[in-house]
Amino acid sequence: MPNDVPSHSIQYIKGVGPQRAHVLRRLGIESVRDALFYLPYRYEDRTALKKIASLSYGSPETVAGTIISTRIIRTPGRNFQIFEAVLNDGSALLTGKWFNQPFLKKTLPVGSTVILHGIVKKHPYWGIGFEMDNPDYEIVTSGEDTSCVHMNRIVPVYRVTAGISVRQFRSLMFHIVQSHSGSVADPFPPSLLEKYRLPGLRETLNSVHFPAHDVDLHLLNRRESIFHRRLSFDEFFMLQLGLALLKKKNRAERGIAVNPAGTLLSSFRNSLPFRLTDAQDRVLREILDDMGKPHPMHRLIQGDVGSGKTVIALMAMLATAECGYQSALMAPTEILAEQHYLNIRHMVERIGLRVCLVTGSRKERHHEEIARGDVDMVIGTHSLIQEGVVFRRLGLAVIDEQHRFGVMQRSLLRRKAVNPHVLVMTATPIPRTLALTVFGDLDYSLIDRMPPGRQPVKTLLFHPDRRETVYENIREEVAKGRQVYVVYPAIEESGKTDLRAALTGKKAFERLFPSFRIGLMHGKMKTEERERIMTTFKAGDIDVLVSTTVIEVGVDVPNATLMIIIHAERFGLSQLHQLRGRIGRGHHESACILLAYPPYGEDARRRLECMVSKSDGFAIAEEDLQIRGPGELFGTKQSGMPDLKIGNILRDGDLLSAARREAFALIEEDPTLSTYPLLRNELERFWEGRRELLETA
Ligand code: ADP
Ligand code: MG
Repeated sequence: MPNDVPSHSIQYIKGVGPQRAHVLRRLGIESVRDALFYLPYRYEDRTALKKIASLSYGSPETVAGTIISTRIIRTPGRNFQIFEAVLNDGSALLTGKWFNQPFLKKTLPVGSTVILHGIVKKHPYWGIGFEMDNPDYEIVTSGEDTSCVHMNRIVPVYRVTAGISVRQFRSLMFHIVQSHSGSVADPFPPSLLEKYRLPGLRETLNSVHFPAHDVDLHLLNRRESIFHRRLSFDEFFMLQLGLALLKKKNRAERGIAVNPAGTLLSSFRNSLPFRLTDAQDRVLREILDDMGKPHPMHRLIQGDVGSGKTVIALMAMLATAECGYQSALMAPTEILAEQHYLNIRHMVERIGLRVCLVTGSRKERHHEEIARGDVDMVIGTHSLIQEGVVFRRLGLAVIDEQHRFGVMQRSLLRRKAVNPHVLVMTATPIPRTLALTVFGDLDYSLIDRMPPGRQPVKTLLFHPDRRETVYENIREEVAKGRQVYVVYPAIEESGKTDLRAALTGKKAFERLFPSFRIGLMHGKMKTEERERIMTTFKAGDIDVLVSTTVIEVGVDVPNATLMIIIHAERFGLSQLHQLRGRIGRGHHESACILLAYPPYGEDARRRLECMVSKSDGFAIAEEDLQIRGPGELFGTKQSGMPDLKIGNILRDGDLLSAARREAFALIEEDPTLSTYPLLRNELERFWEGRRELLETA
């Protein structure tokens, strides 16, 4: 049965015994299929190798020749060794240098024929000759057939491990691809491949490992060849099929219909010092519509910092309370939970609702009340659902997301028997590609308008040299009766870093501005203390509030018009955006000064630049994703998503959208994939270990 071959253990392939199988396992290769999907990390064009004499400086090149001499150089003083090998190809000599790999003297002996790949340099002092630092090397053994595997073609280069050389691995792959690439059944509907002009699986596997000479080398190396795109599409499609099934399953589940008469909601609405924006109204309606149905809601609210997401979430909680159910609001950190708690308690206690805070440090305290149903709203950290908190009748869970709460945790929540409605909020916007993946199982509501009267915040990047100008700015704002935030990355200076810290900063400001009222707030203070400081600041009795990032959320003082961020180069983009969102809330002009201490890296420079040039949170989120790359945000463990090995949501955004469209359409048409058994198998493999997501599918 040819279909079984892909799952065969790699050990039974010709040339692989138990020992080699053991080595391959370290690369994650257990089966023939694993090997077929173990892709080269780069490709070399060896159709016409250049002679050393004709190499160009500064570019990656590949040469072949004989090693004519080697030596090990020890750098004086430091314990540092350089292995040098001189290569002759008949046209000129080239020196390969490897740092701290003295064992290479044995691997690359004089007389051996090798292929080197690396960036070509001149000799550092003489400015002539040819050198390569730490080139990739491949030893050519005589008698080996080199005509069609290792030479005279575009050659794949794989990451290998001790116990197998690149060349041995390539030979093995050549054999496996030749004999078995056709044995993996193509699970994809041919119509789909045709529509997106993607090659079949067999052709794809053949070409992605051993491409024909006319395939574009640069596309291959960027993983953008049509064959790479086919494999990326496969991954995205499997991901989206899973999400589509998950979403469909959620919809079908039984839940609690929350249909409040609306008295509590409208009295709350009337008690607000503002009117909801049209965007808020629309999103609230979307939420209440969902919650009115006897199926659990799973919805993501997106909106920029300050667009008024919290109020909407709170109103959903009120609707839940009005129907006699409890709600929970979960934040990613204790401080965030506490800020929400203080804000919400302030707003709802006057209408007679009972709110409590459950965090790691004040655990047990409210468990009984919650279990008895004596509490309407529970605010806490994510551990609320993981630990033993039992609700009497949980109707709604609001998750204040921050990318930390993935598909898996959401499904955990569902398994708490009751199937509550789930509302997810993100602190700052997230890019569309992430919304389609990490949050791809959720419905989506967008608050696309800011409350009226928000002022754009002028953002300036300052070198510490211009400290005096900063002080001048502070003096002017306070003289006008405005208030100022000064944000530090740390509370206390530590011996290890030269970070300016809030405690020292406060003292310095007290010296600089003896007549100003200077306040201090940080995460190590007691809740009550922080609350007192905030009340004082709100009342206008503090001019300059020195703090750490604890003011990141929920702080709302329209009279504060200037923010100084010290060591702005240390902060992440979404954090900077969230911090800046604390000002520009009133009708006065506001400014944010980013004080950055050089030297800082390229990423930091891009972040700072982005803050200066952009104010739209969605644009900033896109930039953040560009800078950080998808890996960090798409972190598997956090998100509970299957690994993407080939697909890259940044590079292949177009494929992602197409795959989503097609996957959702397919699930609409054939919810059990009964006409596509191969696709079903593939889906199970892809979502492996997360099968509960797809159980009833
Ligand atoms: P987000 O969580 O989206 O960043 P918040 O919900 O914290 O924003 O709201 C920011 C501030 O704007 C809060 O002080 C809130 O009371 C206020 N706010 C919310 N909606 C409106 C509105 N429609 N008009 C005026 N102010 C509003
Ligand atoms: Mg908020």
